[in-house]
Amino acid sequence: MDATNALEALKDALPTSQFALRGTDEYKALNNGTYQSGLNADFNPTCIFQPKSKEEVSTFLTTIKPFVSAGQVAFAIVGSGRQPAPGCSNINDGITLNLSLLKGIDIRDGYVSIAAGERWGAVYEELGKQGLGCAGSRSSNGGPGGLCLTGGLSIFSSRQGFICDDVVNFEVVLASGAIVNANDSENADLWRALRGGGNNFGVVTRFDMRTFKQGPLYGGSLYYFKQSFPGQITALVNELKKPDASDETHLMVSIGYATMFGPDPIALNQVYHIGGVENPPVLEPFTSIEPQMPGMNTLRILSLTDIAKEQAGEMSLPPRSAYMNTHVKADVAMLQAGADIFTSNLDPVKGIEGFVCSYTLQPYPRSLLEASATKGGNSLGLNPDLGPIVSIALLLYWVNPSDDERIISTFRTILEKIEKEAITRGQEIAFKYMNYSYTFQDPIGSYGGENKKRLQEASKKYDPEGVFQKGVPGGWKLFL
Ligand SMILES: Cc1cc2nc3c(=O)[nH]c(=O)nc-3n(C[C@H](O)[C@H](O)[C@H](O)COP(=O)(O)OP(=O)(O)OC[C@H]3O[C@@H](n4cnc5c(N)ncnc54)[C@H](O)[C@@H]3O)c2cc1C
Repeated sequence: MDATNALEALKDALPTSQFALRGTDEYKALNNGTYQSGLNADFNPTCIFQPKSKEEVSTFLTTIKPFVSAGQVAFAIVGSGRQPAPGCSNINDGITLNLSLLKGIDIRDGYVSIAAGERWGAVYEELGKQGLGCAGSRSSNGGPGGLCLTGGLSIFSSRQGFICDDVVNFEVVLASGAIVNANDSENADLWRALRGGGNNFGVVTRFDMRTFKQGPLYGGSLYYFKQSFPGQITALVNELKKPDASDETHLMVSIGYATMFGPDPIALNQVYHIGGVENPPVLEPFTSIEPQMPGMNTLRILSLTDIAKEQAGEMSLPPRSAYMNTHVKADVAMLQAGADIFTSNLDPVKGIEGFVCSYTLQPYPRSLLEASATKGGNSLGLNPDLGPIVSIALLLYWVNPSDDERIISTFRTILEKIEKEAITRGQEIAFKYMNYSYTFQDPIGSYGGENKKRLQEASKKYDPEGVFQKGVPGGWKLFL
């Protein structure tokens, strides 16, 4: 592939000051500074283009399209670069469309419009000034693209459904260069497809989302010792199975290993009450564990902005990361078996420099699936009858590229063992969450045949030449 001709045409059509060319300091700063994971920063595009308006995105697409059709160039799309799957948002020898200069947050009439280059931290700050919130990433550094196009879990998911369910309108630049809106009355099939369909349909330049009144919240993180972890699994499942389970809690329960903490696993709870009730009884089983690791309990009343800053915590994250995930029914024995598989297979990675990993449980309570079902539909293939569900994410962070292979293969084996165990126990759920998927996983296939077919039909209608299939090879494609 030789992007030279495409690049010349793009430079003729668009402001050259917004192109960062390979070899320049600007390029190095952008390529190294954009991505959370070195697995994406490792890619070397020929050039990075940063549009400043939807019209420039349109010109980019119409200009590059003939070169894509001729097989001369491919491109990647990146929002804030927090999704770690290698190649999902960067590309070798192609062109990376970096959306970070598309700015704007507009709050009116109960909705917030978020430009593709914004980050959730800025959105929460603006909403907070008006006593409002919205269902976005838990982390201030994430961008709207990765979350709104994949499903997305927020602090408010138990009440609001998935993040994508609160997107009432996507402003999208299609492969033809047309700038269209997708909502429940205009291009509704595209609207539903984008809710979980990833980067397969166009470049989304703006996300319009519901807002709600939001005061201070209660919550934070606490670390404890591995002996208490089985009790936390029981508490999690008990809460999820209550007929009156709260839709005001957000629970994440993890067991993990970190080279810096020595050979034994440690456990972490991140819990929130969105109603802002201090020490609510519903969180008591998750907050009163003893003994806790001293000095590592951040539970308090705090704002959405503060939660997002705390969750970002990226100053201390090692530079390379990868995620893998699966889902199971809320079953104590299954979740414990998964934890045992995780903790007993860590020997190959113990002691790796800067290594941190976790087996993280995030519930999808029935209330989440019920809320999701009332908001116009999405592509994910989940419904309330499947609930409650628990997402099992393997979250991996490390320092050196030379450790990539050992880490990925160890955790792929662990994931496969957990999935096999779930099938043996009859507790498996097919769904894979795109944001937490590694490249060997198939989130689109996991949505089910009907949903995949609908996504393929939307692709044929809105991108008949398959520009976002052939021309944007990163991420998960529709026709595999
Ligand atoms: C500290 C931390 C906290 C996190 N918290 C959460 C959380 O609370 N909830 C959760 O669900 N996940 C969470 N994640 C995981 C999740 O992977 C990222 O938050 C999310 O993907 C970030 O989106 P992004 O905009 O950075 O996407 P990017 O990494 O930029 O892109 C992801 C994918 O979306 C595509 N894409 C992005 N923008 C657009 C667009 N405008 N148009 C078309 N395609 C686009 C890209 O091509 C790429 O394939 C977290 C990750 C970290 C590191």
